[in-house]
Amino acid sequence: HINQLQNPALFRQQCYIDGRWRDADNRATIEVVNPADRAVLGSVPDMGAAETDAAIAAANSAFRSWRNRTAAERGAILHRWHELMLENQDDLGALMTLEQGKPLPEAKGEIAYAAAFLQWFSEEAKRAYGDTIPAARPGQHIVVIKQPVGVSAAITPWNFPAAMITRKAGAALAAGCTMVVKPASETPFSALALAELGERAGLPAGVFNVVTGNAREIGQALNSSSTVRKISFTGSTEVGRILMRQSAEHIQKISLELGGNAPFIVFDDADVDRAVEGAIASKFRNTGQTCVCVNRFIVQDGIHDRFVEKLKAEMAKLKVGDGFEEGVNQSALINDAAVGKVREHLDNALEGGATVLAGGVPHPLGRQFVTPTLVTGVKPDMKVCREETFGPLAAIIRFETEAEAIEIANDTPFGLSAYFYSRDIHRIWRVAEALETGMVGINEGMISNPAAPFGGVKESGLGREGSKYGMDEYMEVKYLCMGSE
Ligand code: ADP
Repeated sequence: HINQLQNPALFRQQCYIDGRWRDADNRATIEVVNPADRAVLGSVPDMGAAETDAAIAAANSAFRSWRNRTAAERGAILHRWHELMLENQDDLGALMTLEQGKPLPEAKGEIAYAAAFLQWFSEEAKRAYGDTIPAARPGQHIVVIKQPVGVSAAITPWNFPAAMITRKAGAALAAGCTMVVKPASETPFSALALAELGERAGLPAGVFNVVTGNAREIGQALNSSSTVRKISFTGSTEVGRILMRQSAEHIQKISLELGGNAPFIVFDDADVDRAVEGAIASKFRNTGQTCVCVNRFIVQDGIHDRFVEKLKAEMAKLKVGDGFEEGVNQSALINDAAVGKVREHLDNALEGGATVLAGGVPHPLGRQFVTPTLVTGVKPDMKVCREETFGPLAAIIRFETEAEAIEIANDTPFGLSAYFYSRDIHRIWRVAEALETGMVGINEGMISNPAAPFGGVKESGLGREGSKYGMDEYMEVKYLCMGSE
């Protein structure tokens, strides 16, 4: 497939620093493999602190002129970048399926979703409004302006190789910041293709840089720089904690989008068909590998059996295979560890007395493929309910009262997304307000879009991405107090 790209220049095996494509200082590389067959696709530079410092310096010198462009000029470049992503959607989708595994239609869907963040922020750039405030003393004037924080950095995961970059870079660049991006080593080609298109869209050298390589070393270099004023990270809570600790040195602003443990509550009064539709969409998107995927189904006694039966029937229609194969909607997981975790959660549930209703056996394709699995009789203290499974395992807990459901849902240190299905308007308000998460899907399983603020509470993170709130993460509020003569 790599040889069949319509636009071969999108397949880049070098990093992009200060508008130039380059290798690591010591020429070291890391291989990138296809999760579907472990074939080596190519390699990217194995960079460390020195190259990261070079990227920070480039971003810093580009910042002076980038911030002084008008918002409309910055917006126009972001808009062109968005158009180029859509014009190259087939190639970008294919690159993503190759390195990440996700089915091609889903990969192309992510490209459209990722491009939509650039479009959104191309428009938001012009709306970084300040305030005037009634003065405290006669003759005084109080004015509030917003200014870009400066050089920003993004560290991004493999599950959304394009969208997690544009969601950050769109906001940063619109605000007038420049950026250094460290993509996941599993999926660097999508990031490098974005850099290529950014250049074609007219991004000046140094405004958007991509550095691949040693995550720990690059992370430390970003955190130990007093030039980097903002770090935005999407990934595990464990790494988020490290970055937050490291960011203390120079009091860098930090946004964290970390792990979730999403509950999906189905009340007796729910529309069971819609609930099952939402369940499939949320649980099996990206083969269960998103931070807003359902982790725990919490289903009320009276609807339990009907819901489970219909969910099982819909799960039987899922097709597992290579992401390029027609009709496939469940792909290989990212690596062996991911497969091992699903197995571990399943075994733990079975030891605790849960029952397998579907799947539960190794997939005939072997390797990193997992059979979509449904288990009932799950208890809230099982591993599958305590940790993020990140795979196609649907675990069902049965409950009786609304209070019990809310208690189970909130009994976790995580608080990213939650979902529930009900047709009772009073219950909808009660439950929506009681759930301790940053996002709640109500009779809806697909909640992510550029217009909405994405983010979590508790140990799921800090800050919001997308929406009118997204740019605030990259801007400082400055208060001007003007005295009278
Ligand atoms: P995941 O479980 O999604 O792989 P990680 O948190 O391990 O989540 O990875 C998300 C991103 O963080 C990746 O780009 C990864 O390379 C990077 N990363 C991993 N460890 C560190 C670290 N110690 N410092 C900075 N970045 C890191």
